[in-house]
Amino acid sequence: MKVGIIGAGFAGVAAAEIIAEEGGEVVMFSAEEVLPYFRPRLPEFAFGQEIPANLFIHDREWYAEKGIDLRLNSEISAFTAGCEVFPKNGGREKFDALLIATGGGPVLPPFFHESTAKTMFPLWNYADALEIRKRVKSDKQVVIIGGGIIGIEAALRAENDRLDVTIIEKMPHLMARNFSKRASEVIAAQLRERNINLLLDNSVIAVKKAYNGTTMVEIENDDGLLCNFVVIAIGAAFDTSLAAMAGVKTDHRIVVDEYLRTSLPGIFAAGDIAQFPQPAPGSAKAALEQGKLAGHNILAWLKGGKLRPYQAPPVPLRFKYKDFELCSVGKIPRIGDQEVILDFEAMKLYRGCVYENSVLTGVQMVGTSKDFNKYQKALFTRETWQKLMGMGHAQPDGKT
Ligand SMILES: Cc1cc2nc3c(=O)[nH]c(=O)nc-3n(C[C@H](O)[C@H](O)[C@H](O)COP(=O)(O)OP(=O)(O)OC[C@H]3O[C@@H](n4cnc5c(N)ncnc54)[C@H](O)[C@@H]3O)c2cc1C
Repeated sequence: MKVGIIGAGFAGVAAAEIIAEEGGEVVMFSAEEVLPYFRPRLPEFAFGQEIPANLFIHDREWYAEKGIDLRLNSEISAFTAGCEVFPKNGGREKFDALLIATGGGPVLPPFFHESTAKTMFPLWNYADALEIRKRVKSDKQVVIIGGGIIGIEAALRAENDRLDVTIIEKMPHLMARNFSKRASEVIAAQLRERNINLLLDNSVIAVKKAYNGTTMVEIENDDGLLCNFVVIAIGAAFDTSLAAMAGVKTDHRIVVDEYLRTSLPGIFAAGDIAQFPQPAPGSAKAALEQGKLAGHNILAWLKGGKLRPYQAPPVPLRFKYKDFELCSVGKIPRIGDQEVILDFEAMKLYRGCVYENSVLTGVQMVGTSKDFNKYQKALFTRETWQKLMGMGHAQPDGKT
């Protein structure tokens, strides 16, 4: 039983471990030069004074001991419906089953091109983070495009590195997908208090070389900004072209069923690239769980055993950096919903719940996580969460 895994992130590594432990032969292809690492630690790596401990998921010996054939620098440029893969650097290899675990990539703005690539960096993979790390040591001013959680974490860490930081966000408020306007105003106040400059409701239209090695960031509704380098954090993009070429059904991502099977026999997908039942925000926890399950199901499929279904876990957003804290799960208030404020201290603190028809459907907190776990537990059981994920309204069984 020879299984090929394309992509060595959380999902790929988790699947490889399960398959190798059960006696399967595993070859895992990674497009990157370095050992698989914890992607959520990249902002800390990019901006931190020290290289974070445990950046890498396992050391090299671990893969050898497990019998996992990890091939770094081995981007796969094509695969077939018959589970044959074609590495970009040459050759071809046939497998009994395949797992596609290629994750996502950064959305790049139209003004990102060769002439600006040396001053604009997405914060997505190890190589990007290493470039940013070099700039942090020598430079003073950074502009971060995108006011989501990755942009905010980068800003807090850059400020801690004594850089002058500006976040430019095109929406009128930060983290609009996870927080109400009111909560978001508290986030903005908290960032401004930490000397982070915010330009909201403002879009970058161009980034150009300026004088003395500086960079000019041109924005829609304001004067341009000079800085030394730019970090791009405007979301994730998913490349489904390899799968589509092989004849696998794709939508926004690779479509899988509840067993993480794609539309082609013997080809599975897991992690951020897999879409079940609908595209979900990237989550390390979900990728890990899917990777384990895919490992199990691939072996079961090969041996004629029983496959297990995937159940999407609730994925709250939780972030803490020093005394800056954010938590959000479920829905944010929309017109017609009831936003119940538990605590509000202008500029400092927000705790609120969302109710639809008197049923709790969301919880958001800024500056605290007091009782967040309690509300989260009350909000969803696994079953009701599944319903909310894609199948209309749930009746969460815990009301608070
Ligand atoms: C900066 C940052 C911070 C984050 N912070 C958090 C957080 O705090 N909490 C959280 O839950 N989530 C966080 N996420 C999201 C989380 O990292 C992802 O959800 C998770 O890494 C997905 O795992 P994955 O295995 O599906 O894919 P990935 O981790 O993206 O790994 C996929 C791998 O496949 C490789 N690959 C792609 N194409 C090919 C190919 N053709 N051939 C070979 N290899 C290929 C890629 O190079 C990559 O190494 C963060 C993401 C980023 C970018």
